[in-house]
Amino acid sequence: ETVELGGGARAAELRAEARDVAEAVGRVRLVVVVATDDESTAWYVRSITRAAEKVGIDCTTVRLPPDAAPAAIRQELLALSADPTVHGVILQTPLPPGASAADLAGAIAPEKDVDGANPLSLGRLAAGLPAFAPATAEAVVSLLDAHGIALAGRSVAVVGRSTVVGKPLAHLLLDRDATVTVCHSRTADLAAATRTADIVVAAAGRPGLIRGEHLAPGSVVVDVGTNATEDGGLTGDVDAESVAGRAAALSPVPGGVGPVTTALLLRHTALAAQRAAAGGQ
Ligand code: NAD
Repeated sequence: ETVELGGGARAAELRAEARDVAEAVGRVRLVVVVATDDESTAWYVRSITRAAEKVGIDCTTVRLPPDAAPAAIRQELLALSADPTVHGVILQTPLPPGASAADLAGAIAPEKDVDGANPLSLGRLAAGLPAFAPATAEAVVSLLDAHGIALAGRSVAVVGRSTVVGKPLAHLLLDRDATVTVCHSRTADLAAATRTADIVVAAAGRPGLIRGEHLAPGSVVVDVGTNATEDGGLTGDVDAESVAGRAAALSPVPGGVGPVTTALLLRHTALAAQRAAAGGQ
């Protein structure tokens, strides 16, 4: 009786909003910068491109070699930031050895930073100022909202403290009056933290990390993990089998957080274009 927290319906709503805004604005352009041969990155970029096409957003990929120098990547990001025909810029990871995503993302103009990767965006988020949030972190909150799961006053354990997911998610949840515990690879007793939570968000990139014994009966589980399986599929961080029946609700992988993330990137891009058309913010 574990309810499935699918992301399809919320993603469709968000895409419809993006389509309406894009139609009103006219031409909307998103550029994804890639400097890797990684297969799963290529798959992810294709899925963004396809989703963008459907809502009338022009999505192009700028490919740099997997051994590109950080200075060359920065140059590209600065050029796109200065290009008035570009409304959204995403820097895809992984990056070449020696390149820091957080450092390079500082070259993305904040108003085009639709995946909230510029450290300025994260700082503004932490300070309670308007900024684009990293789409994956926002997708977790959006998915919970879509399923009517309340956050105010409830305890949430976030498993993972990365700059792209765990940390920004903690800020978004605090803004919604949740009581947040952030766990990570050095947390001494993970189960002790997750077992007292009303809601557990798994964002560690470790297949099967969260099992039934990690959960209080009746808790809600959001699985952010996207781990490639040997047969070319995708699996989350939650052992769905052992969680079934114990959790009240669980988001599937694929089909949970993922589609909402992609739809939010498009919505952010459409909003960025709308603001640019209105003469900046
Ligand atoms: P990351 O590797 O940067 O961070 C992983 C975090 O998990 C770290 O903070 C680490 O301390 C923690 N961790 C690792 N092992 C742990 C353990 N055994 N116990 C507790 N904590 C542990 O990864 P990321 O970029 O934050 O991504 C996390 C997962 O989310 C990955 O599977 C990634 O593929 C997925 N992801 C999904 C989407 C989406 O749209 N669905 C988007 C981005 C990332």
